[in-house]
Amino acid sequence: MMEINKSMNLSKSLYTRAIQCPKSLWLKKYKKKVLTPPDVSAQAVFETGNLVGDLACQLFEGGKEVAYTKNYDEMITSTQNYIDENIPYIYEATFNYEGILVMVDVLHVEGNKVSIYEVKSSTSVKDIYLHDVSIQYYVLKNLGFSVKSAFVVHVNKSYVRGEELDLKELFCVVDVSEEVLALQENIPTVLSEFNAYLDDKEHEPNIDIGKHCKKPYECDAKEYCWKTQRGIPSYSVFNIFNLGSKKQVELYEKGIVNIADVPDDFAMTANQAEAVKNYKSGETHIHVKPIKEFCESLNYELYYLDFETYQQAVPLYKGISPYQQIPFQYSLHVEHEDGTLAHYEFLAKIGADPRRALAEQLVHDIPLHVNTLAYNMSFEKGVIKKLAEQFEDLSQRLMDIHDNMKDLMVPFQKKHYVSPSMQGSYSIKYVLPALVPEFEKAYKELEGIQNGSQAMRAFASLHVKSLKEQEVVRKQLLAYCELDTLAMVKILDILKNVKISK
Ligand code: SF4
Repeated sequence: MMEINKSMNLSKSLYTRAIQCPKSLWLKKYKKKVLTPPDVSAQAVFETGNLVGDLACQLFEGGKEVAYTKNYDEMITSTQNYIDENIPYIYEATFNYEGILVMVDVLHVEGNKVSIYEVKSSTSVKDIYLHDVSIQYYVLKNLGFSVKSAFVVHVNKSYVRGEELDLKELFCVVDVSEEVLALQENIPTVLSEFNAYLDDKEHEPNIDIGKHCKKPYECDAKEYCWKTQRGIPSYSVFNIFNLGSKKQVELYEKGIVNIADVPDDFAMTANQAEAVKNYKSGETHIHVKPIKEFCESLNYELYYLDFETYQQAVPLYKGISPYQQIPFQYSLHVEHEDGTLAHYEFLAKIGADPRRALAEQLVHDIPLHVNTLAYNMSFEKGVIKKLAEQFEDLSQRLMDIHDNMKDLMVPFQKKHYVSPSMQGSYSIKYVLPALVPEFEKAYKELEGIQNGSQAMRAFASLHVKSLKEQEVVRKQLLAYCELDTLAMVKILDILKNVKISK
């Protein structure tokens, strides 16, 4: 076995970081300042992980938790004490083997045998989790434990909550012993490779960028490796819409980074080739006939709808599944045939299931048999369908909205309107600034909430705010959502007035 540096100081999260890319480990150890700090959504993911982790421990009754302290030796001693006391389940059981520190989420101790349970807040077993468990297995094995089995405990997406939370149904416990065992043989080689990189504190590992920068996680050194070191522009071959990472890397390896340099005969789908051609030409392409047909297919009064939703890893309300989109707000603009507008909105009260009140107001605000317009309507339709399934008495009305919905995205998706700044995408994120540039400014001028994820987080954390703060945030939420449907009104207005045909 190769020599492992005892001062390696590798935790399981550093190990999985290095599995993704050893340079990322090196930067984390020696050049931390180039890493992008975690944003608020990373913090939210972290909090969800903690919540799920705590709940999962309740699946394993009769256990004791090793209290977290920065003095890991104390944690290791506590773990050993619990083992000596025959505690059957130890949460955060801590071990160190030759500088590799692991905390096992749940360690099941049965006499001289142990089993590892790694808890994840996601809804499936990902490959990287196997590496995570395998380093725990490696440490325990080398410390002389007989490891009976290894499991990943993850959230069961198909669970539907009843009156009470059923932990046994909420979680899936997956035996990964075989996969973890298969990874053991390679670990010493992998560790000595990491060790060699870490031994050289002066020189960064010479590792090129590639698809590993995004998978399994978006690397926090991307700004540094991509922009600072290699000067990759913000719109490059890596942004060609839906071009897989294999083809992106193929172009990059040929030294082609700028879209303008993509060869005309490079194999791509027709849509991608058109986007590249369009970008190179710098021209906007508008196909008037199908756009007119789309506009004429809409009946007035026309309703513009946009939902804001949030998700719960652990469903708080009856009838909800983990990570289901729960609507808490909508904005609704109504456009009359003469162009006059009216606005309606809904924002849920905090601390209760928002769905019933929202569904009742929605069927009140949208009459039967009218056209409702959404941008990327599959999202709005999905939310409405779930509401219809949940509230049988409103089902017919809700499904009437669902069935009469039209998608404002279609003219862009079908490439009837393409401009270079859309960068081959038909997402509203690109379409809106291309068509209505003043709205980009309007969003930036909004106070507090300027996008959907901020809205989601703001609503989810309303309950911890004072009444006065809640009032401020509610106003911000309403202003943000209203702008979303107004933006759709403006986009359709542009489409209704297209004249140039190429
Ligand atoms: S951005 Fe890519 S190359 Fe740079 S450290 Fe991260 S994974 Fe490695």
